[in-house]
Amino acid sequence: MASVTFDHVTKQFSGGVTAVNDMSLEVKDTEFMVLVGPSGCGKSTALRMLAGLEDVSEGEIKIDEHVVNDVPSQNRDIAMVFQAYALYPHMSVFDNMAFGLRMQGMARDEIERRITAAADILELDLLLKRKPGKLSGGQRQRVALGRAMVREPQVFLLDEPLSSLDAKLRLHMRVELQKLHRKLNATFIYVTHDQVEALTLGDRIAVMRDGVVLQVGPPRQVYEKPANMFVAGFIGSPSMNFIPVTIDRRTATASGFAVELPLAPRVESGILGIRPEDLTERISSNNPEINLQVDTAEILGPDQFVYGSVGDDAITARVNLNLRVHHGERLRLGIDVQRLHFFDAPTGRAIL
Ligand code: ATP
Repeated sequence: MASVTFDHVTKQFSGGVTAVNDMSLEVKDTEFMVLVGPSGCGKSTALRMLAGLEDVSEGEIKIDEHVVNDVPSQNRDIAMVFQAYALYPHMSVFDNMAFGLRMQGMARDEIERRITAAADILELDLLLKRKPGKLSGGQRQRVALGRAMVREPQVFLLDEPLSSLDAKLRLHMRVELQKLHRKLNATFIYVTHDQVEALTLGDRIAVMRDGVVLQVGPPRQVYEKPANMFVAGFIGSPSMNFIPVTIDRRTATASGFAVELPLAPRVESGILGIRPEDLTERISSNNPEINLQVDTAEILGPDQFVYGSVGDDAITARVNLNLRVHHGERLRLGIDVQRLHFFDAPTGRAIL
């Protein structure tokens, strides 16, 4: 297995697009790293450079200690699984998995051994003779993973491998991928625009925007301590509430309420960040309150999202389903002050 290092890597396409801008990231041996960000942020380009499918404009990419910038793709000991898994329709599952190995001239016994082992882990044993047309989406996805596995690569690269599956299957495959990662004990680098996938799969996640890595950390850390407003807004759904406030010592005053911050930020104004779940129907004397003018509510199962406003600010709260909420009413909610975020308005940086 292997570690992967991006050392000040930049990719400029002809025409002047800087897809990846001075990216530095260390992925540890056997780590599950997720690159997440909105469409066009450069995550696929980063992966494609690592796979050797795009040239690097500046900087170095290393696998373990070896700089691979000029190593041909097939010699990088990497296997990539794409969103469109492109199986050969006229070949059986077995032949699809064997194809790359046969091309390398691998001995028959060894091919068989590898496919049997991969099929066992992926529960494809009974499907090896079938053609892809007679498989479900999830099974096809497992074959695509199997095709990568039989190469026994040092690093697995996965580019939105679940995005063509329906919601239920995606959930199932997410669990399967976690199990697979544990079983293989290999380095996984996974690209997605889906923050839920990132939070659930990654040992660590790297949040990207406009070719730049904005924050790297374990999911919990990125969720609880976002480094800036972009990360705070991108990770978590519905998005964190952002409320412009003026500051007088520790008091932050919005258009419809005021709170005491745990510390005095040395600015006169800023943006208060409150996650929807940190607005609670449990009122306590320790917590400040807001009166949410309810617009609509959306039921999610055990919880509901309530959309409304306080003063001039649109606010979303996540409350228990048992609470009856009606359009037009005012809902009293407490703010969990321990979990407030505060951002510098001009830079968007978290400053508490
Ligand atoms: P998505 O989730 O939509 O695939 P992404 O984050 O993976 O997005 P990239 O595909 O890496 O983003 O693209 C990053 C930027 O580089 C985009 O602005 C894209 O238009 C541009 N780009 C990608 N490939 C090329 C290319 N071959 N030539 C020119 N520009 C490109």
